[in-house]
Amino acid sequence: SYVITAPCEGEKFGECVDVCPVDCIEEGEKMFYIDPDICIDCGACQAVCPVEAIYHEEELLPEDQVYLEKAKEFFASR
Ligand code: SF4
Repeated sequence: SYVITAPCEGEKFGECVDVCPVDCIEEGEKMFYIDPDICIDCGACQAVCPVEAIYHEEELLPEDQVYLEKAKEFFASR
């Protein structure tokens, strides 16, 4: 799946939410999260993010792996 990372924190532009064809991006307290169980890897959100916060999970920097875990926790806790 795709993953939203640090540049989203405190920004929350939200362009990604409107373009996701499967509606799997939701707003958290500090940032938006992509539901990794629903994301179909289309890349539409990455293309519109004004702060380049979105990466495919296989392209995540080691320090950004934590954002995939945060997304899993966010959707598991709802
Ligand atoms: Fe939605 Fe596509 Fe982004 Fe996945 S890659 S979150 S399906 S817009």
